[in-house]
Amino acid sequence: MEKTEKIWMDGEFVNWDDAKVHVLAHALNYGTGVFEGIRVYETSKGLSIFRLKEHVKRLMDACKVMCFDLKYTHDEICEAISATVKMNKKVDYVKPCVFLGGEAVGLNPINVPVKFTITSIYLGSYLGKEAQEKGASLVTSSWFRPWNLAAPAGAKVNGIYVTSCLAKMEAKHRGADEAVMLNAQGNIAECSGENLFIFKRGKLYTSKTSDSILEGITRNSIMEIAGDLGYEVVEDEITRIEMYTADEVFMTGTAAEITMVTKIDNRLIGDGKPGKVGKQLAEKYADVVRGKDPKYEKWLYRI
Ligand code: PMP
Repeated sequence: MEKTEKIWMDGEFVNWDDAKVHVLAHALNYGTGVFEGIRVYETSKGLSIFRLKEHVKRLMDACKVMCFDLKYTHDEICEAISATVKMNKKVDYVKPCVFLGGEAVGLNPINVPVKFTITSIYLGSYLGKEAQEKGASLVTSSWFRPWNLAAPAGAKVNGIYVTSCLAKMEAKHRGADEAVMLNAQGNIAECSGENLFIFKRGKLYTSKTSDSILEGITRNSIMEIAGDLGYEVVEDEITRIEMYTADEVFMTGTAAEITMVTKIDNRLIGDGKPGKVGKQLAEKYADVVRGKDPKYEKWLYRI
């Protein structure tokens, strides 16, 4: 990650080093925040923020889940994110966060002041160039994806990311690039920060939203793009065995984009090389986000 110059904090731009919160901020102690991760791409007509409106909607929905009183409209948030990107020199990723920034001890979050920050950075390749080009290795995590009865799995709430961090760390300790988490039923939920697709018997499958996943915006984009390319896409329960024996497996996420998976728990997926369908979708996605296909211009927020 490379830092930038200015961070937007409650309507004002402050220098990177001055964007501070108190050590007793409720969010720091209890995880009471929500956030988004959004990519910015260069196109032939300048910078574009990919699916900004959908990301802002998901952020606002997460605020609703947490009962945060957000004093900005959807348009104002889009504008503030766009202004933050413009304010800084080298940006490919934006992270808006809404969190309980007030100083408070105790679990009651009611009436703790809300803070809203927008940070832009240069992230580059999230899973590393090698994983992106040659395919990533996964391990099934011993940590389960928090399920819908125990946590708001469908909202990007800071606190529940501790499980993703533990799963990711476990994957790294075991020499893999990423972790796949199971849900309470033992079916595939998703990776630490990506949704999962498998290609099997000529169809694409991805876990259902009721299977304790975050409903990824990249997942949604790939479902539409794959449908347009003539693939049947099914939201279904996916077992671990179905994943091991799929012809292809790939992950989707704003940061990771489309990354092929070639090995899971020491088993090769297909012939152990990035699959054809995943590659086709990854290439199409790379064009779509850079404005090279007018059909998907609706997803670009040009700045
Ligand atoms: N699952 C989790 C747990 C995530 O954190 C992310 C990243 N936001 C995703 C899936 C992928 O979502 P998106 O495509 O919207 O980035």
